[in-house]
Amino acid sequence: MQRLIDGIHHFQREVFPAKRDLFASLATGQRPHSLIITCSDSRIDPFLLTHADPGEIFVVRNAGNTIPDAKTTNGGESATIEYAVRVLKVATIVVCGHSHCGAMAALLDPSLTDKLPAVRDWLTAAEHIREDIETHGLRPSERNDSEAVVKRNVILQMSNLKTYDFVDHACRNGKLNIMGWFYRFETGEVEGIEFGQQDFHLI
Ligand SMILES: [Zn+2]
Repeated sequence: MQRLIDGIHHFQREVFPAKRDLFASLATGQRPHSLIITCSDSRIDPFLLTHADPGEIFVVRNAGNTIPDAKTTNGGESATIEYAVRVLKVATIVVCGHSHCGAMAALLDPSLTDKLPAVRDWLTAAEHIREDIETHGLRPSERNDSEAVVKRNVILQMSNLKTYDFVDHACRNGKLNIMGWFYRFETGEVEGIEFGQQDFHLI
């Protein structure tokens, strides 16, 4: 806890004064240009990664950066995406997976969640990912490749996004782009993929 309190004091002393005008301007409202959907993993910081300021990025985070499709559930993810697209009118949605993702490892090996019923429940909602990977989504040689699995998950989540009519509509009208990223935090590299493409490329 002390580490957090020391961090607040540092923020108030060193960081806030330099951005005082920015924070004051944000009191009148937010106009983020992008929504980033990423994993809860502590090794990812979407603001640090994109060198963004407060007010620039709307964020959804959960274990495995998964998005229920429009028919499956009406949870926090769909509500946040709806607000970002319909009210904030973000121009870009990024689904960002990452190297060494524990959620994807647990999805493929349920024994890892034997004593974590809530995690298992959450990942059960993402069961279609495992089915995809174990059937047609990846070549057999890629199924034990953790990077290939995370990238496939990103592609599937991009497809889930398009099941929301307001997302599909904004894309068709040229007002919204969907992109997938794979963030390799140990090297700082990011690979990207546009919706409909098959391969990731270095950004
Ligand atoms: Zn993760």
